[in-house]
Amino acid sequence: MRKVFVWLCACIVIGSFGVSAAAAKPSGIQTALAVYVDGRKVDEEAIAVGQTAYVPIDVLARVVEGVSYEVDNDIVFLTVGSVAFTYRAGESFILIDGKKQEVADVAWKSSDDANAQRFVPLSWMEYVPQLKVLIDALKRAVLIYRPMQRTNAVALGKDEPTKPLPPVVPAAPRTGPRTVMIDAGHGGQDNGATSVRGRFEKDFNLSIAQQLFAKLSVDGVMYPRLMRATDEYIAPLARANIANEAAVDVFVSIHANAAPSPLVSGLETYYWRDDSVVLAEVLHRELRASLGSVDRGVRKQRFAVVRETRMPAVLLELGFLSNAAEEQLLFLPETQQRIVDAIVRGLYVYDGQRGP
Ligand SMILES: [Zn+2]
Repeated sequence: MRKVFVWLCACIVIGSFGVSAAAAKPSGIQTALAVYVDGRKVDEEAIAVGQTAYVPIDVLARVVEGVSYEVDNDIVFLTVGSVAFTYRAGESFILIDGKKQEVADVAWKSSDDANAQRFVPLSWMEYVPQLKVLIDALKRAVLIYRPMQRTNAVALGKDEPTKPLPPVVPAAPRTGPRTVMIDAGHGGQDNGATSVRGRFEKDFNLSIAQQLFAKLSVDGVMYPRLMRATDEYIAPLARANIANEAAVDVFVSIHANAAPSPLVSGLETYYWRDDSVVLAEVLHRELRASLGSVDRGVRKQRFAVVRETRMPAVLLELGFLSNAAEEQLLFLPETQQRIVDAIVRGLYVYDGQRGP
């Protein structure tokens, strides 16, 4: 029944689909993107052509639950989660649940024969509430998250900890809002500090970075980018180079501290160049007010990520994992929320914005 409905809608608009000759691959340098589903790398690839990322629909159907498609006379019926797309490669409008929608990124196919591989822009997935797509700063990883179970956030037992859903990254950079590179310290073989309870700094850093990314994306006041979206190692100098090449406006590195004495606790904010002092002071002030932790000051030190970056750059040491009480606090979702909110407030103040 639903199918017939979609067909009818499609038929009405098919008249305006016109003769499709523009289904060829868009121009631009093509690079492979690794595909991750719920943080796990799968044995399939998406591609980026220029600024836009595409995924073949057969790959989408293989790696993501709730995806199916059919092709009829070059009209593609693609269902992703609760959303039905009807489209023809090369057309700048598509039907979403039967409703006509102009799209900036256009689907294409690899050839004109029946076995052609059909690519859809990942930006279309913005219309699917159950699916979130994220491309990290290395332009290497596409993360596709399956629907999250909306539990009451209790009794998760042995399941993996809940992760916030990173929202969709717009395909084209926005004009206007400033870009922020969020740098989760350490990763991969580099655990950073190990906490008194055996938890790793790299995981704390990534958790904060992802939540910060999510909040800034939803607010839409600034345009965030993630240095790493997974547990991977990137050398400090490489991080600075990536931020420089991306020409972001602000660089924020997320860390947690450790000291030989279990008594040491508190907040430290680092910068190196003079152009970063104001950013460091504003973020430090917001964090200190929000966390109420010991104030260990704004400090100048030659960390590579604050020294080699060419934009205002700070490194936040958000607390000591070697201090039992602070460690416990830092891993609490409420504390992490406060940290994220404080950083966001600080960024808006720094940027002269009031936020949403
Ligand atoms: Zn660190």
